[in-house]
Amino acid sequence: MAQKYKGTSHSSEDCCSFCGAKRSDVALMFQGTGGVNICNNCVERGYQMLVESELTESSRKKGGKKFKMEELMRPAEIKAVLDQYVIGQDDAKRYMSVAVYNHYKRIMSRDKKHQDDVEIDKSNIVLVGPTGTGKTLMARTIARVLNVPFTIVDATVLTEAGYVGEDVESILSRLLQVADYDVAAAERGIVFIDEVDKIARKSDNPSITRDVSGEGVQQALLKILEGTTVNVPPQGGRKHPDQKFIQVNTKDILFICGGAFDGIEKKIAQRLNTRAIGYGVQSASQVDRENLMKYIMPQDLRSFGLIPELVGRLPVLTYMQPLSREALRSILTEPKNAIIKQYERLFAMDGVELQFDSDVLDYIVEKADEYKLGARGLRSICEAIIIDAMYDLPSSGESHYVVTLEYAKKKIEGSNFLQLKQVS
Ligand code: ADP
Repeated sequence: MAQKYKGTSHSSEDCCSFCGAKRSDVALMFQGTGGVNICNNCVERGYQMLVESELTESSRKKGGKKFKMEELMRPAEIKAVLDQYVIGQDDAKRYMSVAVYNHYKRIMSRDKKHQDDVEIDKSNIVLVGPTGTGKTLMARTIARVLNVPFTIVDATVLTEAGYVGEDVESILSRLLQVADYDVAAAERGIVFIDEVDKIARKSDNPSITRDVSGEGVQQALLKILEGTTVNVPPQGGRKHPDQKFIQVNTKDILFICGGAFDGIEKKIAQRLNTRAIGYGVQSASQVDRENLMKYIMPQDLRSFGLIPELVGRLPVLTYMQPLSREALRSILTEPKNAIIKQYERLFAMDGVELQFDSDVLDYIVEKADEYKLGARGLRSICEAIIIDAMYDLPSSGESHYVVTLEYAKKKIEGSNFLQLKQVS
């Protein structure tokens, strides 16, 4: 290919008429009539701009989805769907259902241009709880219920604009992409910001002089959480001088932040103790020490290192509980997409009826608990047990397969399962 173009006649070394690059410095140089040349880099750049321009053009034309009061699911209905996918976490489900319902009512109240000028505040949510307890699952399920664009971003990859890492706007590029560049739809979508605790202020660490991935990011998030118009590069990535932007307004985007906030119980305990002594509102003896998380308040997030302005923009605060053995057992079989149901489906596609003995399920839960792997570990354990059967059965011609406790133990104890301890 390169030969074909390079082979055309030329005298002294040709340069790209657009960027000035020499023929010897580029992979391809296309020659036009009248001595005009263009190098492969400029062709690529031009193509990129055409795509961006097309995306920008078409993005405003799509209409997005309007919400109608009569079509909006009520909190109890939203919770009922959450119940099908998420085990336990009742408090969080109730909070989320109400927050989401209010969020979409807020959008509608503006659509209708009510006369009374009452502006409903945004109900961004923060979910606090150990990893693997269903925070992401909850946010994902909500988006599925509402059928709105949804994206997950990891707060740890975000940095203050201009530093290595992703700018905060990249969140919106992703939302646009999943919305198929329908700006109106993206503007009513849901963004889940995971690991928000990792951008807490690290001021007690004297070695950090410039906190570009902590407080800087919190500051950058503030604006988009509250509602502002952002120039978003349609395909993400770094901005460049001749970039086309799509303008996205974030005022109706629902942000759900999740984080483990390891050690926050200590802050809660401290606060509760002080309060018990100071005002006698809640005597220390009444406090359920086993489950301090349920007393979580916005000021605890501040003590943890979130700046007050950010805490203020996350008015709905709820918590996820660590999963008990019973919950883990239910997670294996009950949710709509339960892991065991998924294996059954996979085997059924090969005409094999798969069955797990009930004590195998107990054993899986026991191992997940023993190695402190939580719900995330269930899948890895199942995989270690079933991998050989998945390899052999499709070509064996068998139509029924039972996983017994003896078989499961042999697979776990005989495999390099102990390495799983490092997963979590
Ligand atoms: P988190 O975001 O809290 O770290 P995830 O939502 O990513 O946790 O959960 C990891 C996996 O564990 C999910 O894909 C899901 O299969 C399972 N899981 C965790 N918690 C629950 C739950 N409460 N109900 C059902 N499945 C759960």
